[in-house]
Amino acid sequence: MTTALETTSVGPAAYELMERLFPLCRSLTGDGVRATFDALEEHIPITRTEIPSGTEVFDWIVPDEWNIRDAYILGPDGTRVVDYRRSSLHVVSYSEPVRTTLSLDELRERLHTLPDQPDVVPYRTSYYARTWGFCLSHRQLLQLPPGDYEVVIDSTLEPGNLTYAELEIEGTGDAEVLISTYVCHPSLANDNLSGIAVATMLAKRLLARDDLRNTYRFVFGPGTIGPLSWLHQNRDRLDRIQHGLTLSCIGDAGDLTYKRSGREHAEVDQAMEIVLRDSGAPHRILPWEPWGGDERQFCSPGFDLPVGSLMRTPHGEFAGYHTSADGLERIRPESLAGAVDTALRLVDVLESNRRYRNLSPYGEPQLGRRGLYRSAGGAVETPDDERALLWVLNQSDGESSLLDIARRSGLRYPVIRRAAERLENAGLLAG
Ligand code: ZN
Repeated sequence: MTTALETTSVGPAAYELMERLFPLCRSLTGDGVRATFDALEEHIPITRTEIPSGTEVFDWIVPDEWNIRDAYILGPDGTRVVDYRRSSLHVVSYSEPVRTTLSLDELRERLHTLPDQPDVVPYRTSYYARTWGFCLSHRQLLQLPPGDYEVVIDSTLEPGNLTYAELEIEGTGDAEVLISTYVCHPSLANDNLSGIAVATMLAKRLLARDDLRNTYRFVFGPGTIGPLSWLHQNRDRLDRIQHGLTLSCIGDAGDLTYKRSGREHAEVDQAMEIVLRDSGAPHRILPWEPWGGDERQFCSPGFDLPVGSLMRTPHGEFAGYHTSADGLERIRPESLAGAVDTALRLVDVLESNRRYRNLSPYGEPQLGRRGLYRSAGGAVETPDDERALLWVLNQSDGESSLLDIARRSGLRYPVIRRAAERLENAGLLAG
């Protein structure tokens, strides 16, 4: 269980990591992703896998690697009117190299703006169709004077590698929990440096434990092609994955939102619903839909892995989504800390949930004789502890799990779990 002290320090640490990562020009591939992994490596011991361009992964092909050193548009007066060094969003991700001079009318065809949000710079990509372009605010576009513009994109787009990183935190059992997040967005904060930071801080907490039953496998890769590459590399061992979670858009001020896995009622779905219920905080539970982030790949019918998605305000629903307005000022350290804490509570449920059998099912066993009622009536106990003992005894038929009992009784999961432990210690339950 996370202590209050840990919760207060994890928010600022996660935020600092986001500040560090924000300027890096991430994309599907390239040195921006590798530099991101360099920064993560200062916190957690990840291992990297490089998949060569041209590799077939299911119905996809790993694209050429993209790297960029500089990009700008020089105005008629020779000043940099659009400058990649000010924000990586200014260049369409995966732009091929270009060095030319264009009239304003010719240039306009290469410029992307948002007329209905005139002050922000949009985020644009062209991963699978070769082109180039720049992004700027619509207000700036309207102010560009006629004349000749020198355009330079100093990039390379050639055979290389796709890079993903993973971290395995080994437990004592056979089951694995997959935690996945994407690393392909450039200077955008909530989508999805927040997911990277929360996953990293969660991993750090789990690395410090030595009592884990499940193995926790963290995967950091570019959206879609990253998880597909990982799934392809691991296709012979996917049956070990018993639970999974994707993390995205999780640092804003919105309430926590959980989207169920494709299975809808997998153990991870039930566990997260109970964790959010127990938190007492407002939250949303969304049904599965094959739309959103990398859960689309994990929950595709060929894999059907039990992978849910934890977010705050889902992508597309928050103002500034995929624009320069998704900056660090939108991020709240306490939102990051709350997300880590929620994930740790999920871990506690996944670690402890199991089915028991009542060994004294003919009438209620005498709890007072075993010291269970007396301690339940003590000053530090609450009546919930007594009720939990009776619920666990009544429902432990070898079929109902502790999660089932927590849901049916309405009692908090930790109270149910503690009751089961006490009953087992008293010889009244068998696991
Ligand atoms: Zn996005």
